[in-house]
Amino acid sequence: MDLNSKIYVAGHRGLVGSAIVRNLQSKGYKNIICKTHKELDLTNQQAVREFFENERPEYVFLAAAKVGGINANNTYPADFIYINLMIQNNVIKAAHDFNVKKLLFLGSTCIYPKMAPQPIKEEYLLTGALEETNEAYAIAKISGLEMCKFFKRQYGDNFISCMPTNLYGPNDNFDLKSSHVLPALIRKFHEAKVNKNDTVEVWGTGTPLREFLYVDDMADACVFLMENYDGEQHVNIGTGEEVSIKELAETVKEVIGFEGELVFNTDMPDGTPRKLTTVEKLHGLGWNHKISLREGIELAYNWFLENYK
Ligand code: GDP
Repeated sequence: MDLNSKIYVAGHRGLVGSAIVRNLQSKGYKNIICKTHKELDLTNQQAVREFFENERPEYVFLAAAKVGGINANNTYPADFIYINLMIQNNVIKAAHDFNVKKLLFLGSTCIYPKMAPQPIKEEYLLTGALEETNEAYAIAKISGLEMCKFFKRQYGDNFISCMPTNLYGPNDNFDLKSSHVLPALIRKFHEAKVNKNDTVEVWGTGTPLREFLYVDDMADACVFLMENYDGEQHVNIGTGEEVSIKELAETVKEVIGFEGELVFNTDMPDGTPRKLTTVEKLHGLGWNHKISLREGIELAYNWFLENYK
């Protein structure tokens, strides 16, 4: 990519897409195109083809997707499989037909087999049964990764893909029913501090281990892969470091300055005991994350204070 290349970021209003746009802008890329959902419905094949025909993007970051937490995935599986398949089919095929030079597709570490050995290597994809609660999402996303691989194999298209770990940061979902743990804890500790409560409820036992990556680091890795990686296999994007939910909650508590106690609600599920990726491949290519968990939580909390209504 050079600084004048025409780059389309699909999904630029989401957690991931907005971070990719920030990263590209910070590196001096000047010709970034974005379309809101209203302007371009990515599930509409005709509309997507017209867009590619008229705009002729040279590079595509495919960060548009229907996403959600465990509850949303479980309740709307038909929507999750249909919408994601449509978006990626339309964009990947149009990218092929209109000669996009390179495309990056984003998966998620939650689409690895439920019982994958830890830490999870790239080659563990499609080696076992999926987690039932997000099977529909996973099948769509796995199809997207495979499509990039097969378009590369059959046509020589430079379509690559990556697998980010649990992300957090600006434009996150802070709704307590549907969000992931990190934004939920930021909101809970903040509200407990403001309301001078004595306790904050943390779900589960606090023992599960998770890996977290600040979304601006993820975006930096995506742009790095676009600039430096042409392989057929997807690449994990993470830190390779894990923390327990209890340690995470204590760090959020400190950053926010809440003085009360944590209360673990063991009526709520723990989920999988451990979810860690290996990032040897990414490190081998020359990329490492820069933002520590504590720093990332400070940045995310500042964003929350300034932007969350
Ligand atoms: P997961 O990584 O797919 O399991 O998704 P989550 O980010 O929703 O949950 C991760 C872990 O954090 C689980 O063990 C949850 O029980 C725990 N957790 C603790 N407090 C909360 C909370 O307030 N919200 C959520 N979503 N998870 C919480």
